Amino acid sequence: MNDDLTFEDVQAFIADRGGANPCEACGTQDWIVSLSFGDKGHMPIIASIDPAALSLFGAAMLPVVALSCKHCGNIRLLSRPTIARWKSEKANG
Ligand SMILES: [Zn+2]
Repeated sequence: MNDDLTFEDVQAFIADRGGANPCEACGTQDWIVSLSFGDKGHMPIIASIDPAALSLFGAAMLPVVALSCKHCGNIRLLSRPTIARWKSEKANG
């Protein structure tokens, strides 16, 4: 999935949808936005498995954007397709 989302897109999406609320774990409001991890820019995902096979092979995956609380490490995940759809709808009026 190459959706060309940028840090600015995620910031605009969060602002449009009510802003980044304080961390539910510690109450601070200092987030790190991660669209990718590592030197190769790997995209974070939520993976699923076939419960019968207990295997990741052929599994459906949901790309996400990770918001990490700088204070306590709590992680929130935002659906990347939802942000991409919001961006597309905004661009197309
Ligand atoms: Zn926190």
